Amino acid sequence: MIISIRRHASADEIDSVISRIRDFGYKIHTIEGEERVVIGAIGVGDTSSCLDALAAMDCVEKAVPISAPYKFVSKEFKPAQTVIKVGRDVEIGGSEFVMMAGPCSVESEGQIMETAHLAAKGGAKILRGGAFKPRTSPYDFQGMEEAGLKLLAQARTETGLAIVTEVMSDTDVELVAAYADMMQVGARNMQNFALLKALGRCGKPVLLKRGLSSTIKELLMSAEYIVAHGNKDVMLCERGIRTFETATRNTCDIAAIAALRELTHLPLVLDPSHATGKRSLVPPLARAGVAIGADAMIVEIHPNPARAVSDGAQSLDPAHWLEMMEDLQPYIELWKKTRPAPAPAAV
Ligand code: PEP
Ligand code: MN
Repeated sequence: MIISIRRHASADEIDSVISRIRDFGYKIHTIEGEERVVIGAIGVGDTSSCLDALAAMDCVEKAVPISAPYKFVSKEFKPAQTVIKVGRDVEIGGSEFVMMAGPCSVESEGQIMETAHLAAKGGAKILRGGAFKPRTSPYDFQGMEEAGLKLLAQARTETGLAIVTEVMSDTDVELVAAYADMMQVGARNMQNFALLKALGRCGKPVLLKRGLSSTIKELLMSAEYIVAHGNKDVMLCERGIRTFETATRNTCDIAAIAALRELTHLPLVLDPSHATGKRSLVPPLARAGVAIGADAMIVEIHPNPARAVSDGAQSLDPAHWLEMMEDLQPYIELWKKTRPAPAPAAV
């Protein structure tokens, strides 16, 4: 339910509304609007009795149920677009388009430092790189783990880029959060509910990737897990889904960005690398991603893709990366001009 409180209501009146809502078994999530307080109440309770009780309270202007099964992340709950701060000075969801780039895996000190400088040179604000790798084969490279996290932190110190890296297990959340500026949930773990719950308490923003065969609703429900467990800073990433098509590694559901925009206030990210699996297809898809209104993009780049330990075929080499970023500029300028001004904080 969303409960709007009348302007100029006193703190005592607001408290009495909150305790009435709690009587019905709902959890409270208060938004301090600029002009009036709006209260979000989530949970399983007798909604119609609660709405009746609230209607009888003078200071309640309006109380309406949230019809979507995902509550906190729905546009009904919060129409204003969410802006998430990553690291010291990057904001995703606001007036800047943000690029994240880096290798699929952290491989060595030399590789990650070189890639970090390359990412920064192209205009990326966030360095990606997997230290814990979800590989289809148990015989493939599994990641450098904590040594990789340390190298990412070193790359941050050297370049000023913020760091996003994948966490695969709830038992690793604390370790990864000690190094990362943003926690990535990979496609294969989108419905790892123990992990999602742990991320609710991790204190860092989360980049949640869409599962290989997941619907948009399932993606939103997974985001809801993280928010319901205490972490509002979640962004959603379209990275392609599994279909009958084999020409690309996955099928990019580009319309998901537009569809999600109508359903949620969370920032939206496109990963054209995993969505295509093919270097030559990354720049055209990146253009489409900017055009359709993604708030950010995450792209794999490598100083020498032929020698990459994972995802070399989809990684941009230095020349193609720099060229893509230059070519994207006019699209990004257009994005900035045509993007609706961020809605005011009040709902
Ligand atoms: C990755 O980002 O390297 C990765 C494994 O992505 P996904 O989970 O989307 O497959
Ligand atoms: Mn990869």
